[in-house]
Amino acid sequence: STVPRIVILGAGYGGVLTALRLQKELNYNEANVTLVNKHDYHYITTHLHMPAAGTDDPENARVNISKLIDEFKIDFVKSTVVQIKPTEKKVILEDGTLSYDYLVIALGGESETFGIPGLQEYALAIRSINSVRLIREHIEYQFAKFKREPDRTDYLTFVIGGAGFTGIEFIGELADRIPKLCKEFDVDPALVKIINIEAAPTVLPGFDPELVEYAMKVLADKGVTFKIATAIKQCTPDGVVLATGETIKTSTVVWTGGIRGNRLVEQAGFETMRGRVKVDPYLRTTQNGHVYIIGDSSLMFNDEGRPYPPTAQIAMQQGVTCAFNLVAAIRNQPMREFKFDNKGVVASLGKGEAIGIVFGRKLKGGLAAFMKKLIDLRYLFIIGGVTLVLRKGKF
Ligand code: FAD
Ligand code: NAD
Repeated sequence: STVPRIVILGAGYGGVLTALRLQKELNYNEANVTLVNKHDYHYITTHLHMPAAGTDDPENARVNISKLIDEFKIDFVKSTVVQIKPTEKKVILEDGTLSYDYLVIALGGESETFGIPGLQEYALAIRSINSVRLIREHIEYQFAKFKREPDRTDYLTFVIGGAGFTGIEFIGELADRIPKLCKEFDVDPALVKIINIEAAPTVLPGFDPELVEYAMKVLADKGVTFKIATAIKQCTPDGVVLATGETIKTSTVVWTGGIRGNRLVEQAGFETMRGRVKVDPYLRTTQNGHVYIIGDSSLMFNDEGRPYPPTAQIAMQQGVTCAFNLVAAIRNQPMREFKFDNKGVVASLGKGEAIGIVFGRKLKGGLAAFMKKLIDLRYLFIIGGVTLVLRKGKF
C-alpha cells in the first residue's frame, strides 16, 4: 500500500507521548503506526526509586499499554528490538522484522559504568520494573542472611554509588524503609549503614547549593553517611574499592553513577557521544532524515552549547514535537523546531520531604513533596486521563 509506515521503538516517556499524539492528529488511513516495546506495560521510571527500596508496590509504577493507546489506531507489538538497520529502513526484532518509512527511536538509556571493573557484574541498577524488584528482594535477603550469620554486619551495609538525583531519591526511600526492615527482622538499627559515595566535590553537582545542603541534612538525619570527592574505582563480589585505596565491605552496591544512550543506537552506525545521537532541531538524525531520536538516547544542546540533561520532562516534550513533525512530513507541511520549556526539577528525599526549583522558585520540605505529588499526578493525567489518576495516583 502507499500508506506511510511509522514505527516507534520503545514505550517510555518519549515513545508513549509520540504514539498518543499521532493517534490524536492522524486521520483515518493516513499512516500505519506501530509501537514496539519489550514489555506489554509502560513503566513510570520516575517512580522506580520507591519500589526499588520497597516503599511502594511495583504495580503502582507500571501501566498496561493497552490501557493507554487505542489499538484500533496503533498496532502494538510486544517484542525486543535486537538491531536497527537505517540504510535498509528495517528493524530486527527477536521474533521478526519490521520495515518503515519513518522511524522513531525512543529506547531510553542504560546504566553508564565508565568501564569501571566489576560494576556490570556485581552492582544493581534502577532501570526497569524487573531491575527494581531484584533490588528490593536483594535488600530483604541481606537482612535474612544476617540473622543466620550475625557476625556478618557487612550484609547490613548498603552502598549507593553516585549522588545524582537517582541516587539521592533512592537513598531517601531506603532510609525510610530500613527502620521497618529492622523491626520485621529484629535487627538493631545501629548496625545498618547507608553509604552514598560521590566522585564530585559535592552531592548533586551543579544543583543549587542551599537545596543541596538541605537535602544532605535531611538524609544525614535519617542515618545516611556521605563520602564526597571520592570515586568508586572497582566493584567486587565483596564490596567496593575507592580511589583513595580504601575498601568498603558490602554485598549491596546500587550504582546510580549516570546513564548513557541505548547500545542499539550506536550499533546501528549512528555517530554517538556516550551512546547518544546529536539530533537536528526537528529531532532527526543528521545522517538520515527519516529517523527521529528522542529521550535518553538523543542529544541536544541549549543556547549556551551545554547538553540538556536526559529527563522525562524533555523526553515527553520531544514526543509531542516528534509527532507534530511526523504528521507534517507526511502532509508535506512545515515542521516545527524543538524548544525545551524547562519547568524545573523536584526530587524527593523520602516521605514528606523533597527539594526543587519550580518556575524559578526554590522549594523544600513538605511544600516540595506536595509539588512532587502534583507532578506525578499530572503525568498520569496526560497519558491516561482521570481514570489513570484514580487507579494509580497516590494522594
Ligand atoms: P524510557 O522511559 O526509559 O523508556 C524506554 C522504553 O524502551 C522502555 O519502555 C523499555 O522497556 C523500552 N526498551 C528498551 N530497550 C528495548 C528493546 N531493545 N526493545 C524493545 N523495547 C525496549 N526525569 C524527570 O524529568 N523527572 C523526574 O522526576 C525523574 N525522576 C527519575 C527517577 C528515577 C529513579 C530515574 C531512574 C529516572 C528519573 N528521571 C526523571 C529520568 C527519566 O526517567 C528518564 O529521562 C526518562 O525515562 C527517559 O525517557 P525515554 O522515553 O527516553 O526512555
Ligand atoms: P547523573 O549523571 O545525574 O548522576 C550521577 C552521579 O554519579 C554524578 O554526580 C557523578 O559525579 C557520580 N559518579 C560518576 N562516577 C562515579 C564514581 N566512579 N564514583 C562515585 N560517583 C560517581 O545520573 P542520575 O542521577 O541517574 O540521573 C540521570 C538523569 O535523570 C539526570 O538527567 C537527572 O536529572 C534525571 N533524574 C531526575 C530526577 C528528578 O528530577 N527528580 C530524578 C532522577 C533522575
